[in-house]
Amino acid sequence: MMQRLDLRGRSLSLRELREGLPRAQFDVDAALHTVEPICAAVRERGAEALKDFAEQYDGVRPQRLRVPAAALQAALAQLDPDVRAALEVSIDRARRVHADQVRTATTTQVTDGGTVTERWVPVDRVGLYVPGGRAVYPSSVVMNVVPAQLAGVGSLAVASPPQKETTGELAGYPHPSILAACALLGVEEVYAVGGAQAVAALAYGFTDGEDVCEPVSLVTGPGNIYVAAAKRLLKGVIGIDAEAGPTEIAILADAGADPEYVAADLISQAEHDPLAASVLVTDSAGLAEAVTAAVARRAAATKHSERVIEALTGPQSAIVLVDDLEQGLAVVNAYAAEHLEVITSDAPALAARVRNAGAIFVGPYSPVSLGDYAAGSNHVLPTGGCACHSSGLSVQSFLRGIHVIDYSREALAEVAAHVVTLAQAEDLPAHGEAVTARFETMAER
Ligand code: NAD
Repeated sequence: MMQRLDLRGRSLSLRELREGLPRAQFDVDAALHTVEPICAAVRERGAEALKDFAEQYDGVRPQRLRVPAAALQAALAQLDPDVRAALEVSIDRARRVHADQVRTATTTQVTDGGTVTERWVPVDRVGLYVPGGRAVYPSSVVMNVVPAQLAGVGSLAVASPPQKETTGELAGYPHPSILAACALLGVEEVYAVGGAQAVAALAYGFTDGEDVCEPVSLVTGPGNIYVAAAKRLLKGVIGIDAEAGPTEIAILADAGADPEYVAADLISQAEHDPLAASVLVTDSAGLAEAVTAAVARRAAATKHSERVIEALTGPQSAIVLVDDLEQGLAVVNAYAAEHLEVITSDAPALAARVRNAGAIFVGPYSPVSLGDYAAGSNHVLPTGGCACHSSGLSVQSFLRGIHVIDYSREALAEVAAHVVTLAQAEDLPAHGEAVTARFETMAER
């Protein structure tokens, strides 16, 4: 079912590996044509445009875009107690891990009377996008909100598509489980807006009757290609975390790996999206065969069989055969997967040598699904090979480091000649004069 890519006996350069490895086609530029008029309409017509787009794309026209506090509490009251308990564990673990990411200011005494302090200042107001198209993701509420809150963000707004199936007092709002997760986390500002129009709404702000959504400075969170395209379009107006593409799992496994675990994990990510990528890299032809059989059996039986099979048989998914785990390591480093599982005899040692991955899941009992929900790690991770230069969402994503430079007259005098020299070397003499002016006598002026 899954295509095979046989790299055995081949020595490929990084470029050849990157070009040859399977990857989802995710043409954000093409989607820009769709989202440009959407974003322009939101800017010009505000709430009315948002309601029109909700009707067009989500099949429901919200009466009010901002979810009232009573609806948030009603969603929490209706939440299945088991789901509530699971979310509470997820929140608790995420808080523990993300609390350790909080940074404190550092001051470097560069010279007597001369210091540089780096202060970490949270973004004042952020918008958090929580997807709600094909599936609904209360877990993504946790993954966005927890690091933002721990960073100390003072004002945060969540946006998620309105759901046409919801009835009663929650009709026209995001999925009740998303509202409940917001209520559990103490988020009070939630909007029934999805897709590109949500990114534009957060970037520009809007007024809907008595409700005012002020513009945000940063938008984070995963979403589909329209969300990614709107982030690309509005980057500059707002900061963004990343243009998340379809999810990916790579598994580096040897002959000792259990094929049922491997198959189940490949399928679990394929469940997200027909464009999701599932890639097994192995030095064992026997494991490849066993996983192929297990995938066929499990994929046919799973609930979302249709999109799972579409994802697994797509050009972005494959079983890659390598000579040995050294070549396997080179392959996964070149691929830079959003999620990488290492299921080999000495998984911790091999995992320690991985340089490019959004998150690494070590050994047979650390499946990606654990990280999706309850490991404590963040599940908003770089996709499309971006893990070779970017990190997943963290407290750091919501902070800005500001250098504070504080030099005395004596400390400036000590280094003044060097500043003047470098200013002249760059043919920017006025830069040097800004220093020497401070030491001129009245007569020299
Ligand atoms: P979504 O909320 O991202 O998108 C739904 C919205 O897309 C709709 O509200 C609508 O406004 C817009 N839309 C749909 N069709 C459109 C069209 N033809 N033109 C313009 N706009 C249109 O939900 P989704 O579609 O389910 O996508 C969610 C994505 O997020 C999936 O790819 C999933 O894998 C990914 N995801 C990633 C993570 C992660 O952490 N990396 C977590 C959860 C979800």
